Amino acid sequence: MSFPTTLDGLYINGQWSAGREHLRVINPSTEALLTTVNGGDEHAVDQAVAAASEAFKSWSLTSGAERGAILRNIANGVRNGREHLMKLQSSNNGKPQFEAAIDVDDVIATFEYYAELAEGLDAKQDSNVPLPSDDFSARLRREPCGVVGLIVPWNFPMVTTAWKLAPALAAGCCVVLKPSEVTPLPELELAAIIAESGLPNGVFNLVCGTGLAVGAPLAADPRIGKISFTGSNAVGVQVMQRAAETVKGVSLELGGKSSLLVLADADLDLAVELACGGAFFNAGQMCSATSRVLVADELEEEFLRRLHKRAQAIRVADPFDAEVEMGALVNQAQYQRVLGHIDRGLSAGARLLCGGNRPADLPRGYFLQPTVFTDVPLDSALWCEEIFGPVLCVRSFTTEAQAIALANDTPFGLVASVVTSDAAAADRVANALQAGMVWINAPQVIFPQAAWGGYKQSSIGRELGPWGLAAFQEIKHVIRAV
Ligand code: NAD
Repeated sequence: MSFPTTLDGLYINGQWSAGREHLRVINPSTEALLTTVNGGDEHAVDQAVAAASEAFKSWSLTSGAERGAILRNIANGVRNGREHLMKLQSSNNGKPQFEAAIDVDDVIATFEYYAELAEGLDAKQDSNVPLPSDDFSARLRREPCGVVGLIVPWNFPMVTTAWKLAPALAAGCCVVLKPSEVTPLPELELAAIIAESGLPNGVFNLVCGTGLAVGAPLAADPRIGKISFTGSNAVGVQVMQRAAETVKGVSLELGGKSSLLVLADADLDLAVELACGGAFFNAGQMCSATSRVLVADELEEEFLRRLHKRAQAIRVADPFDAEVEMGALVNQAQYQRVLGHIDRGLSAGARLLCGGNRPADLPRGYFLQPTVFTDVPLDSALWCEEIFGPVLCVRSFTTEAQAIALANDTPFGLVASVVTSDAAAADRVANALQAGMVWINAPQVIFPQAAWGGYKQSSIGRELGPWGLAAFQEIKHVIRAV
């Protein structure tokens, strides 16, 4: 793909402009500079929040049906731009084209789903609230929570955006979006689509930029009613601290250290496929990565033999290669971070089953072999911390209770997977796991109808489903003497 030398990184009140911060955007598969995005600073944030506040006066009064129609226009715009958006995702993030297709289709499904929820709001507005007294009547209103700041990461650029943006617009909120400075290109294209959707000026504003120049002032701005953040725990804490100063609401989607449990009666080939998908999809850069595999003692040897064979056969390649199974990591910093985890894992005494290096046929780009460790000490960083790369740790267990305890032994609680042919055991284990999403014998399928988010330090709140919409609504009861 070719790009202009520079791109405007601000879309404020329906106008594109260039900010003062120059963001170098790299293709992680070639390490080449793609373009420079001229992003903003606190001055741009100030303008964007002012535009959103002005637009909120009328957008908040629109009907759900009107908002739903615009969300459908956005979904159609994304559908029409599908191929281009897929290429942007692969060029800027390094993910294979087939993964980029899943992302774009998820974005379309999310906007359509929230269009439907928006259209359903009008009939529910001012619904009667039964009271235990004939002297009073009460009605219930759901109103937008104001101007909202959306801050998103680089691993699923447009998807994490859609999960916030679609429900925020459906609720009647006005938005200032800050994409990751690492992957702004998909969101810039999404903004161009939104600009053609019929949305009034100022309802949606985009400010590209770094966390400190744009994210921090956004989180602190007193005119913002809510911050919805997806990213690392370290930054999530900072966002929450800044938001606390003006008592604004926060939704946080943070890290994970999730497990895939292979019970004694599991189909081993299925377990190996799900283990590889859970650890190596998106080159392992997933908050939901099942980077711990817990396998029943009696299956361990054969499981490791098949996993080793499959992991080594995974084709790591350029994201546009027709046979690619795993692409590049997102940038140099992330690459070095993951290599550092591998080195520290080896120093801690973990045994490398396979991987750990750059593939020999890929001298450039941030490519890494799918990596599997066994004998990982329980107190090592490899076992305890989020790696955010294609690195899988395998341990065996003796009893179901032991497996559940090992899976729950983490400050995180985002997702888990269970592989078994015993339906009762599957449900028993799923119910005991501290995770917001559990898949049984299934890959990590996600539907806009099902909630996304986790227990413990993985999340505050839930995205998707009706919960994702409620996150952008205030509840008002009007009680009248009759
Ligand atoms: P990050 O926390 O470094 O950055 C996320 C966003 O926050 C970026 O837009 C960044 O510019 C911004 N930011 C940085 N400093 C800021 C500050 N001081 N104030 C406000 N904003 C600031 O995360 P990342 O490296 O982009 O993404 C990886 C992390 O995201 C991982 O920890 C992963 O688990 C998490 N993640 C979670 C989910 C989920 O749904 N739970 C989904 C995707 C990614």
